[in-house]
Amino acid sequence: MNSVAYKHVVSYEWERAQHLRQLRLGQLQREDVCDADFLLRAAARHHGVTMDRACPVCGQPLRLTLWVYGSSLGRRAGSARSEEEIAGMVAEGIEFTVHEVEVCPACHWNHLLTAATAYAAC
Ligand SMILES: [Zn+2]
Repeated sequence: MNSVAYKHVVSYEWERAQHLRQLRLGQLQREDVCDADFLLRAAARHHGVTMDRACPVCGQPLRLTLWVYGSSLGRRAGSARSEEEIAGMVAEGIEFTVHEVEVCPACHWNHLLTAATAYAAC
């Protein structure tokens, strides 16, 4: 089985920290940042994996979800996928974008962590 490699990795940690700072300062309301919709919450439940870090808003465990984007994916674009499914897709010889999104099932906090291009490593 091919393994997945990533290139063009963009981190969104700065934006995440900025949103949390604005929340603390009252420039953003909790409902502005804890706005995971039904699809995102369902994906976190079914495809997500529990992360090492706690929710910055409520302290509950976060779930990491992976979302795939790109015209090479056809109808699969814009869906949440497991790492195994992503490995299967790069094995087709295509490249596409993967977003890592953290989601809190408890308070619905969610944030994009990284965006990167996935491709077959071997
Ligand atoms: Zn939370």
